[in-house]
Amino acid sequence: MKVQLLDLASQYRKIKKEVLREVTKVCDSQHYVLGKNVAGLESEIASYCGARFAVGVASGTDAILLALMAAGVGAGDKVVTTPFTFFATAGSIARLGAVPIFVDIHPKTYNIDPESFESYLKKNRKGVKAVIPVHLYGQCADMAPIKALAKKYRISVIEDAAQSIGAEYRGKRAGSLGDMGCLSFYPTKNLGCFGDGGMVTTNDAKLYDRLKMLRVHGSRVRYYHDEVGVNSRLDELQAAVLRVKFKYLDGWTAGRIKNAERYNALFSKAGIKEATLPYIQKGNLSVYNQYVVTVPKRDELRAYLASVGVGSEIYYPLSLHQQKCFKYLGYKKGDFPVSEKTAKEALALPIYPELRESEQRFVVSSIAEFYKK
Ligand SMILES: *Cc1c(COP(=O)(O)O)cnc(C)c1O
Repeated sequence: MKVQLLDLASQYRKIKKEVLREVTKVCDSQHYVLGKNVAGLESEIASYCGARFAVGVASGTDAILLALMAAGVGAGDKVVTTPFTFFATAGSIARLGAVPIFVDIHPKTYNIDPESFESYLKKNRKGVKAVIPVHLYGQCADMAPIKALAKKYRISVIEDAAQSIGAEYRGKRAGSLGDMGCLSFYPTKNLGCFGDGGMVTTNDAKLYDRLKMLRVHGSRVRYYHDEVGVNSRLDELQAAVLRVKFKYLDGWTAGRIKNAERYNALFSKAGIKEATLPYIQKGNLSVYNQYVVTVPKRDELRAYLASVGVGSEIYYPLSLHQQKCFKYLGYKKGDFPVSEKTAKEALALPIYPELRESEQRFVVSSIAEFYKK
């Protein structure tokens, strides 16, 4: 048996006709930038996330960059985030000349730990402009204490919801929990396009206006520029693909959740005491962009799974404070022990909606086999 980490082809087979029909319409129209598909998708996604507005941009990375710019973050400002995330979260901060400030993660959820955030702010409140909680693997960060701290210290909250469209925190969806929410439509995300794409959500009309201006070179009236912005738009072809796929999102999410529950049952039945299963905080609904277990001998297990035909991946093998490009920030090994430990133990297993029960059984029995040896 061969089990891929992600099988986008099986999803595509089911929607191919519909997608190609919509793509053809865009080609026939020859209207590619900022047209009716982008506008339509923006209002669909905004209402899905429970936000008033959404702005389509070229990628999830640009969504974070533009949100930071809209929040007024610039050179020398500090932005607090987690070291256990995809590079883009911190990379976008650094690209603006701002300073990424890392605080450690919660040992069970792997999301930013509000207590670490608070102790940082108590000691260093000066110059902190924003915080970027990341809703990792499909589960929202613990937003209530983060928002309370942000309010107290007057800093912006920018959600990195790239992995978490549809995720809920106490009944509210990712993208409506902070001042702005950043989505990615990279192909491996729960709602993925056929290339790069992203979106920023907000409830604030002023931020909405700024985001729209910033994505077209800082211009509100064509060829007149109020600020130096960027060229970052979602295009009509991607938006057309996304509007077709969006109709299936809830069904796919339900499939991911069902598969996660099935893994939980299979793991406990197999009695694999080595594996720590995903922990979902009370009041959260995870959309399981990834199903990540933490395990001893992770790299050996991964190699073994590969040898029996099971795909897996490591998100993420190196905590961001240890990345070469962030050496200048002055962090060292041991600064964020939970993040560093998780980077050594985390392993993502296949969780995509079309995954079959027999395949999940094979994944779990292969893991059991490895630890028996
Ligand atoms: C994917 C991802 C991004 C970046 O999105 P792109 O669309 O690939 O630029 C940012 N943050 C996190 C946590 C992600 O998983």
